Amino acid sequence: MDRDERIARESVVAAARELDAQGLNRGTSGNVSMRFRDGLLITPSGLPTARMRPEDVVPLGLDGTHPADQKPSSEWRFHRDILASRPDCGAVVHAHPVYCTAFALCRKEIPAVHYMIAAFGGPNVRCAPYAPYGTAELSELALAALADRNVCLLANHGMIAAGASLDKAVWLAVELETLCHQYAVALQVGIPTVLSDHEIGSTVERFRGYGLNAANAGPERS
Ligand code: 13P
Ligand code: ZN
Repeated sequence: MDRDERIARESVVAAARELDAQGLNRGTSGNVSMRFRDGLLITPSGLPTARMRPEDVVPLGLDGTHPADQKPSSEWRFHRDILASRPDCGAVVHAHPVYCTAFALCRKEIPAVHYMIAAFGGPNVRCAPYAPYGTAELSELALAALADRNVCLLANHGMIAAGASLDKAVWLAVELETLCHQYAVALQVGIPTVLSDHEIGSTVERFRGYGLNAANAGPERS
């Protein structure tokens, strides 16, 4: 493993740890990947994040090949398919955070109840129909739900965020969980007002220069 690969593997582990630290994942739930050279680096299957080391991260070819003594995340298909079909994305995170997953269990999409929805690329966050974890069918459904978006919910499962970098993907995941939390509370308070497509359209444009998207966003982990 050369220095660049070591640094990339460390950033994958750091992103997985960050998802735990932010309360988005626990134990072995969720997984992280980043584009690396002509394939990707992905977290191993079934290993608690707290015990994960850079050498546990699995190098995966776009054809799904990997070292025989390593087991990539069971969700390697959607990680691979997103990175292969979305040149705008350099990293993918998958998690089972409580509020995102609560809406996913009810198979409900998230409407434009807060302007932050624009950070995800459009006026809603879709919920992909159910398919068993780790299947090519789940990958296909997730890809469709991610059309013109950088996040989606997965019915009866959790969520996916895809960003230009690991930092961006983690940021999107945290923002989506925050939005789902706010929406869940608002539904208890009353009837949330949904912003118009026009209101969200102009905000989507403004988000292209915001935070980690901006040219002056500073150094990133990847
Ligand atoms: P892995 O441990 O295989 O990555 O699986 C966790 C998960 O969230 C499956 O959907
Ligand atoms: Zn999962």
